[in-house]
Amino acid sequence: MEAASLPDPAVVVLIGPSGSGKSTWAGQHYRAGEILSSDALRAMVGTGPHDLEASAAAFGVLDAVLAARTARRLTCVVDTLGLDAVRRRGYLAAARSAGLPAVAVMMDTPAAECRRRNAARDVPVPAGALDGQLRAMREIDATLAEEGWDLVVTGTSAGAPEADHLAGASAAAGRQSSAPDDLEFVLQISRFPWGDDPLGWLVAVAGAAGEAGFTGVTLMDHLIQIPQVGRAWESIPEPWVSLATIGSRFPDLRLGSLVSPVTFREPGLLAKTVATLDALTGGGRVFCGLGAGWWDREHAAFAIPFPEPRERLDRVETTIETLWALWSSGTKAFTGSRLTLPETTCYPRPTAPIPIVVGGSGRRTLRIAARMADGCNVRTAELAAALPVLRTELDRIGRSRDEVAVSVLDVPVVGVDRDDVASRVERLRGRRPAATFAARHFAGTVTDQVGRYRLLAEAGVRTVFLSLPDLSGPDDPARCAPIVRAFRG
Ligand code: GDP
Ligand code: MG
Repeated sequence: MEAASLPDPAVVVLIGPSGSGKSTWAGQHYRAGEILSSDALRAMVGTGPHDLEASAAAFGVLDAVLAARTARRLTCVVDTLGLDAVRRRGYLAAARSAGLPAVAVMMDTPAAECRRRNAARDVPVPAGALDGQLRAMREIDATLAEEGWDLVVTGTSAGAPEADHLAGASAAAGRQSSAPDDLEFVLQISRFPWGDDPLGWLVAVAGAAGEAGFTGVTLMDHLIQIPQVGRAWESIPEPWVSLATIGSRFPDLRLGSLVSPVTFREPGLLAKTVATLDALTGGGRVFCGLGAGWWDREHAAFAIPFPEPRERLDRVETTIETLWALWSSGTKAFTGSRLTLPETTCYPRPTAPIPIVVGGSGRRTLRIAARMADGCNVRTAELAAALPVLRTELDRIGRSRDEVAVSVLDVPVVGVDRDDVASRVERLRGRRPAATFAARHFAGTVTDQVGRYRLLAEAGVRTVFLSLPDLSGPDDPARCAPIVRAFRG
């Protein structure tokens, strides 16, 4: 049976007799802080989990915590017997008033097994009480149907919690494991917390990326660290110099910038720089990312002109024509639509064409990519809007859709499990609300990410440039190995 993924956030109410496995199930699917357990609360306000005298007080606390958490749209898993209809309807009402989905999870453990586990406990529930619970459980189906739960599942059919930003990921991860799709992963290095050993850090991170199955490494091209990633006084190296260093140590990694603003370098000098890197790294593994540039501050600070968007986009076209001219064979004069050159003498020549990847999601940028580039890169959130524009333009000019490889820049929070995901979000979010930050960064476990990338592959993406918002060293690309490996071999 296909596992039913659970909405998240949600109010999840467990229903089942003692020993049916409610607390175990809750601990397997949710974080400790999300679980409101009557046993735990009895221990807190009474003398222990079985202190029935403390029940009223414990349920009072449970209701208060439930109200506080649902008001903040935080997931709550109510771990009580769940057999009391009045209490159960209270939990449902709390979900309704917060606008959260209400989920009932029925533990479908056979009665004999519950009795056996109960008997094995330090403090078993009296046999008569357990009989009563088992009887109530047998009659619950009809009652639940009338109560109006958004979802009723059994413990064994329930899948993973799945936030909106992970919609469809569980099922897609299943498809990926049964019938794998191909997808290339390249590690995008955007932050450089290298302490007093820049070279050692860069080499260690690039090496770990290769070990993890990334096919290459790309670097941001900025003159000052951008506010989306870090502080202005953090190091941000010149990418082409850095890529030469990486390329000389790792003969198999692809190397590129994501993306170089065309404003930074005279186009001819960029052609010379990238062709030199191609030659020094053996040829065939360098690509050139190009964009129109967007950050006025870094231009002003480095005395680089920053013209209006229209002129910058013109310059993307001019730059691509210059690269074509200086990277092709021969030395004869070049006449393009924006550029004439008296000669095209630029050696070393690339031995094979160097792919040009245009980054950006504006309409004109996408049309330039369709007409002139080998690759088109957008942020993941922009993909759905960008694809039709790109494809329409490709169809219009009669270029095959396969000729322009679609890639995404993806900046996910990746955790090994739900706990790890939540603590990473909490560490990174600053003052932004956790749910907003988690959605923006597609926060999820390794399995969630496999599913999400499968969906991107199905949408036509060929390469993911994966940038970790908490990249600090070689352990971080290593953490992504199970994601990358799920798409290879
Ligand atoms: P609760 O009373 O419904 O909260 O049940 P618990 O989660 O405390 O589980 C009761 C006992 O059954 C514990 O000893 C668990 O380790 C065991 N148990 C729970 N779920 C499973 C399961 O899926 N398989 C097995 N073999 N044991 C389980
Ligand atoms: Mg329990």
